[in-house]
Amino acid sequence: MKAVYYEEHGDTDVIQYDELPDPEVGRDECLVEMKAGGLNHLDVWTRRGMPSPGEFPHIPGSDGAGVVQEVGEDVTRFEAGDRVAVAPATSCGTCEFCRDGDRSLCENFMLIGEHTTGVHSEYSALAEDNLVPIPDDVSFVRAAAAPLVFQTAWRMLTTRAEVTQGENVLVHGASGGVGHAAVQIAANAGAEVWATASSDAKLELAAECGADHLINYDEEDFVHAIKGDTDGRGADVVVDHIGAATWQDSIKACTQGARLVTCGATTGPNPETDITQIFWKQLDIMGSTMGTPGEMDDVLSLVWDGTLTPYVRDVLPMSETDRAHEMLQDREGFGSVVVVPDDEYEAGAYEDVTGNV
Ligand code: ZN
Repeated sequence: MKAVYYEEHGDTDVIQYDELPDPEVGRDECLVEMKAGGLNHLDVWTRRGMPSPGEFPHIPGSDGAGVVQEVGEDVTRFEAGDRVAVAPATSCGTCEFCRDGDRSLCENFMLIGEHTTGVHSEYSALAEDNLVPIPDDVSFVRAAAAPLVFQTAWRMLTTRAEVTQGENVLVHGASGGVGHAAVQIAANAGAEVWATASSDAKLELAAECGADHLINYDEEDFVHAIKGDTDGRGADVVVDHIGAATWQDSIKACTQGARLVTCGATTGPNPETDITQIFWKQLDIMGSTMGTPGEMDDVLSLVWDGTLTPYVRDVLPMSETDRAHEMLQDREGFGSVVVVPDDEYEAGAYEDVTGNV
């Protein structure tokens, strides 16, 4: 089969698209003909070796969608011909957290494409627990762009912060993958949403996603902005995946009893923290990562019915995956980049949903 892969970590020039052996299908696995693969910033970090999957050649890619071709003998929920999206989190099934039902806390949590073989190839062998059905009227491109970032944002806002109608929610990096999902989820919950981004063009996307207030953080202090809009009150919930660059001010932007939820630290993991603000305002500082299968089902049902929409900036053939990585790492534009197998791309056999919010 044709596959995107690399034999070593490095810059985008390590990425190849060529023949690799077809995957072997285990008893509990489905062979999926991949029709689209979604890229995330995670793919760039993994290519650079942070973290390293350890084995080469490595096929990258956590997000994808396709059609089941054959099923292993223990598979019960899928059959050949089913349209499916990849739910990329895997858990051990035996630790106390898996047994108690919150599999996102699994001690041996792994992500397809990051720790194990990914799905940016013509075929993938995937456990049925890592597949979710997609309705006939949802395109493979749309289905491949949604799962990772929408599940992450859903758990942050819904399960962890428990955002409710009328609350003030501040979302950083609102044009990014998790950011634009968080804006939509908060707005759909009836919250008033403040969005920060580095350019007016990115803020336009945040507005399309449902943000009520737009803050260009290169030109405006976001603490000053949200306090000014709320008679000095501030945010009930802050969604921060930026890290060191925003952390101290995110705490300042919180009102009494607010929740600050973090799922990443792209600008660095060790900011100073003013502890007096945390106890005086009685803040909840919350970590969050990925989500449970139930959370995936909940959020994807809203993606399938159009309530939530992944923004796709471009669709490229898999042979141009190096270009897709460049677009992500150089922060050209915003939204997901989706790759499709070259023969599908050349045949135009995908629905172009770029720019759809
Ligand atoms: Zn476990």
